[in-house]
Amino acid sequence: MKVYIKSFGCQMNDRDSEALAGLFLDKGYILTDNLEEAEIILVNTCSVREHAENRALSFLGTLRKVTKSQSYKVTSNRRNTQYAIHDTKIVGLIGCMAKNRGEELLKKISHLDLVIGPANFDKIPYYIEKIRKEGVRIIDIEDKERKEDFYSSSFRFQKDYAYVVISTGCSNFCSYCVVPYVRGELRLRKPSDIIREVERNVKLGIKKITLLGQNVNDYQYKSSVGGYRSLVNFVDLLRMVGEVEGLEEIDFVTSHPKNTSPELFELMAKSNKIKKHLHLPFQSGSDRILRLMNRGYTKNDYLKLVSSYKEVVGGTLSTDVIVGFPTETEEDFLQTKEVLEKVRFKYAYIFKYSPRPRTKAQLLGDDVEKREKERRHRILLELQKKISLSQDS
Ligand code: SF4
Repeated sequence: MKVYIKSFGCQMNDRDSEALAGLFLDKGYILTDNLEEAEIILVNTCSVREHAENRALSFLGTLRKVTKSQSYKVTSNRRNTQYAIHDTKIVGLIGCMAKNRGEELLKKISHLDLVIGPANFDKIPYYIEKIRKEGVRIIDIEDKERKEDFYSSSFRFQKDYAYVVISTGCSNFCSYCVVPYVRGELRLRKPSDIIREVERNVKLGIKKITLLGQNVNDYQYKSSVGGYRSLVNFVDLLRMVGEVEGLEEIDFVTSHPKNTSPELFELMAKSNKIKKHLHLPFQSGSDRILRLMNRGYTKNDYLKLVSSYKEVVGGTLSTDVIVGFPTETEEDFLQTKEVLEKVRFKYAYIFKYSPRPRTKAQLLGDDVEKREKERRHRILLELQKKISLSQDS
């Protein structure tokens, strides 16, 4: 059977789609990038911004046409009539949006057969079989720890680099962010499992890896064997990954400024494998807005961290910024602009705020007008473009 997987959103989603593709391949399915010939279509979604959800919804809408041409087979026996759908396309909504809006969308979208949250990807091939045999619609959005087996396949989308997930979920609850609600609380993979996956990549000839976590600095793996307790933090983990023979380059995302440590900078400076680049989202330059965002640092803290990074590591920086957060004034916005001007990031992802369901920020309303958000967005984009160009030259 042929499987088509469409992925929206971040690198974490790309890695999830890749691991899922590996599960299917290991079970004898075939991957296809042709929607028409696919028998199973899975849409891996993102809920971080309204725009990302709308893109996935519009893609799901287009699938109505593709699935329409297929017909249900009806087989009968003496007692009852059975509906077998083994020659019908199966459409699945998976990932963050499934967790966020799955129940509602399963009711609304009649050609949707499967809705699976991020914690239950390992069960997707099993559910597909169940749908084929029983003709049922399935929803599983339970929040739980992912099985380690999910990462077991050797299939990789790219030949020269790979993503390695070190943690899933997040317990930081930045007030605008839906991640803790859709991906669940912070859960850590064992250091030994992470190292094994890195080694597997090296055996496949992949020498560059990116470690992925919503906030890598939250990695604090505690274990206790025979009364002996140990703790592996993110810097320890990086050091362990750096010792994998044959690995040439290590990158990582994302680092939250509130717990990015001097030890990390020291290791980055010393290591000849860790890329000298740091993605350090500051989100806003206004202390008042940062408090409302529950970010846990001030503009000054951030700027001090940046100057320490520049001094110790001397590498490049990138960031994320939100404009138009509820109650953001012109003065707040100018503070954000000032941070961009001062730090001179290599690149920056600048977003217009959109309220996300269940988040604290949603309760603050959405009072910055669309036109004003667009103006602030445009100003920062133009500014950053100039800064990036001046660094390229
Ligand atoms: S650190 Fe904040 S912004 Fe990042 S995933 Fe966690 S809650 Fe969201």
